[in-house]
Amino acid sequence: MNMKGNRNITLCFIGPPGSGKGTQTRMLAKAMGFKVIEVGDCLRDLSKTRSALGRKIKSYVEKGKIVPVDIIENVLTKEVKKIKKGQPLIFDGFPRTKKQVKVLEKILKANKRSFDDFYLVYISLPLKEAVSRLRKRRMCEKCESIFINGVTIPKGSKICPLCHGKIIRRSDDKPEVIRKRFQVYKKQTEPVLDYYKGTGKIIKINGNQPPEAVFKEIKKNLKQKIG
Ligand code: AMP
Repeated sequence: MNMKGNRNITLCFIGPPGSGKGTQTRMLAKAMGFKVIEVGDCLRDLSKTRSALGRKIKSYVEKGKIVPVDIIENVLTKEVKKIKKGQPLIFDGFPRTKKQVKVLEKILKANKRSFDDFYLVYISLPLKEAVSRLRKRRMCEKCESIFINGVTIPKGSKICPLCHGKIIRRSDDKPEVIRKRFQVYKKQTEPVLDYYKGTGKIIKINGNQPPEAVFKEIKKNLKQKIG
């Protein structure tokens, strides 16, 4: 199944922190030709700039808080403009609040992306498993690949096996920030699922499996929905 040049499909991936959204969306991009807008990555990149906007974004991201909706709207409107019409597209980590649902609908409309070809992929994961994953999560500072300490890289690795960049911990993967991100997820993101309940738009996936099994489940569900 390769979606390129096919239909104007738009997928939004949501799920608790550590549910593997980024891993899965990257796999879909590679296997099926989706373009991915990784909202957290866009915000992290912007937060590294020394502009007033960068500093403002940083103050939210490092505390695990939701970045204000007007900033999200601006950032995503610009990102979507770079995407060709007819290009299958994934938003990773959006919409995260009910207000952002309105932004999503506005963006779909403005870019002639039909609601008929839109689905929300929800990756579920028990809290305990997610916390354990985030504690072990490491990232390459250079190529931004994600690893699991002691599983996909040897415990305590300092150098990326792919590009020799430096292996770091994401600054918001500290225990107190992890806790905050979960609170935010429960309070603000779960209502997004309620909003789409009963519309046939939610594709619920069990994230508590190895990445390949999660990927298989996503592909099977997508096939049923979009052929
Ligand atoms: P993620 O990489 O998806 O775990 O996101 C990291 C952080 O970026 C979150 O804890 C938020 O501070 C911010 N963020 C990501 N996506 C959004 C969004 N859709 N709306 C607001 N803030 C976001």
